[in-house]
Amino acid sequence: MNGPLNRAKLSAAERNFRSRIAQLATGQWFLRGTLSERAGKCGKPNCRCARGQLHKSLYLVQSQEGKFRQICVPRAWHQRVRQAVNDYHLMQKRIEEISELEWKRVKQRKE
Ligand SMILES: [Zn+2]
Repeated sequence: MNGPLNRAKLSAAERNFRSRIAQLATGQWFLRGTLSERAGKCGKPNCRCARGQLHKSLYLVQSQEGKFRQICVPRAWHQRVRQAVNDYHLMQKRIEEISELEWKRVKQRKE
C-alpha cells in the first residue's frame, strides 16, 4: 500500500487524467486569481475619457494570506494572464479528479 504509484495498477481514466496534468504542468503558466475589467478616467482634462469614453483596464485580484491584493495587467500581458488564470482552474479541476479517485481507494481500502 505504501510507496510510489504503480501506473500499471491505475485505470485507463486515471492514467489519462495524469497525463493531461503532466502535459499542462510542462507547457503552461499558472496564475491564481480573478480577472476584473474596469472602466475609468485617467485624469487628463483633454482626454477622450473626460468626454465619457472611459479607458478599460484589466485587473487581477488575488487573495493572499487572508487579504486581497490586485495588479493592473498591462495590455501586452492580457492574453498570457488570461491563459494562465484559465490553466490554473483547469489544473485545479484535474487534481481534484485524481484526489476523488484516491479518496475512493482509501474508503474502500483498495489499492
Ligand atoms: Zn483618459
